[in-house]
Amino acid sequence: MGQHLSKEEAYKIIHELRKEQDDRSRAVGPMAALGYRQLLLLGLVFCSFLFYVPLLSSNLTGLTIGRFIGFIGLQLILWQVILGSRQIVRLVTPNLLWANKLHRLMGTYGFLIIALHPLLMVSTYGLALVWPPSFASTFDIGVRIGVLAFSVLSVIWLTSAILRGRALSWRWWKRLHLLAYIIYPLLFIHLTVTGSSLTRYPWLSAWLFTINTVFLVIILLRIAGWAGLTKQRYKVVATTPVAKDVTRFLLQPLKKGITPRPGQFAYFQGWRFGEAHPFTVSHHDEASGEISFSIKAVGPYSKKLQSLQPGDTVFIDGPYGVFTKEIGESDRPVVAIVGGIGITPFIRHLEAKRIDYLFWGVSSQDDIAYKETVQKSGAKTSIVLSEQSKPTANYLAGRVDMKLLKAELGTSLSDYDFYLCGPPPMMASLYQQLTDGGVSENAIHQEKFSL
Ligand SMILES: Cc1cc2nc3c(=O)[nH]c(=O)nc-3n(C[C@H](O)[C@H](O)[C@H](O)COP(=O)(O)OP(=O)(O)OC[C@H]3O[C@@H](n4cnc5c(N)ncnc54)[C@H](O)[C@@H]3O)c2cc1C
Repeated sequence: MGQHLSKEEAYKIIHELRKEQDDRSRAVGPMAALGYRQLLLLGLVFCSFLFYVPLLSSNLTGLTIGRFIGFIGLQLILWQVILGSRQIVRLVTPNLLWANKLHRLMGTYGFLIIALHPLLMVSTYGLALVWPPSFASTFDIGVRIGVLAFSVLSVIWLTSAILRGRALSWRWWKRLHLLAYIIYPLLFIHLTVTGSSLTRYPWLSAWLFTINTVFLVIILLRIAGWAGLTKQRYKVVATTPVAKDVTRFLLQPLKKGITPRPGQFAYFQGWRFGEAHPFTVSHHDEASGEISFSIKAVGPYSKKLQSLQPGDTVFIDGPYGVFTKEIGESDRPVVAIVGGIGITPFIRHLEAKRIDYLFWGVSSQDDIAYKETVQKSGAKTSIVLSEQSKPTANYLAGRVDMKLLKAELGTSLSDYDFYLCGPPPMMASLYQQLTDGGVSENAIHQEKFSL
């Protein structure tokens, strides 16, 4: 006891312990990383589908299976609406990325299950069910409404699972995605008008009443959110340029504010009934409740934000994110690898002197924000300028790469915890280089500035 260990020796012991811990968590599987609320949500999703199993108790025919899948589809759409609502997800977890992943997974594969419903129905009733279109009876109208719901769903699926990020801009994808809100009411009308299950199973009517109420509440919450009513109101105190095209917005809460942990982000809505985009809270003063965002003008919304003036009211909802959660608890040296404005999740950690190494790639010296904070942080810093061809006394030239990391950290990269935040191509390349270089995936944490 009392024996003094060098930093290297301490890190080595910690590394061994961490390795053991990693092995143990790998043995338990990825579910081990989920909190109990997330597991509860997954359990609820699963049980809600089981609820419809009694519909299969009669003869298993194309018709009964098709009907069962129809109800599963309705339930699935409701879950998608729930998972797409930040106000609800926030009650379960701040990890919006996890909820979005689940939303995407359920949307991508759920659609394929739902597509079985029209197939089974057409195989039972024949093609005449859908073609030529008829509006002669209530049943026919119900079928047409179902076809409309499925067509809208197909557009949403195509634009989300296939075209998003490729042939479709984020904004157009978002606009089309809002169409998803009409699917649930259309499906409900379709099921009510065409189905006989409701009269056969009284419990089904009660259940549908319950889930319809949930749907209505979510819609009302969404509208209230859009109007800024469910968000915290802040006054703009100051707007200060901190680097090329980057402005720091200092905000003061008008009533209750948010309490973000270092590295967390919040949705910033500049105007009532306007868009809300995610930005990291780069500063937070616990005493006054003031928060700051450091925002780079890159596109229509972030450019429009630059017109905000001191005294304007803005709407904030959050906090979200778990990206740098472990930094405070990490017992190994922390390495931040940053591209451009990706520095924002690290500002508060740099102020608290929790970053050991900082590798920061920017285009030119003009892009370096919060230089003083970085200098005072004690982090061993390498700033790499991509527009510079030769290194100078303070800056390196080119890009952050494995050669630079190894030169600064030594060859045993598995002794460090890595945090990556920057443009997606840079992050993808460094993630690959790190894993190829033997760094465990568990030791690499990433924040993409796109959800
Ligand atoms: C968790 C997180 C933290 C972020 N922190 C910062 C920060 O501290 N400082 C900063 O300057 N930027 C930050 N960003 C990026 C910022 O959100 C985008 O630059 C901004 O939304 C771009 O909008 P635009 O209309 O100006 O540009 P556009 O050109 O229209 O958008 C560019 C890209 O931003 C993404 N994006 C746009 N709107 C949204 C949205 N509502 N939700 C999710 N993604 C969207 C899309 O991937 C889109 O392709 C962060 C992003 C995320 C996801």
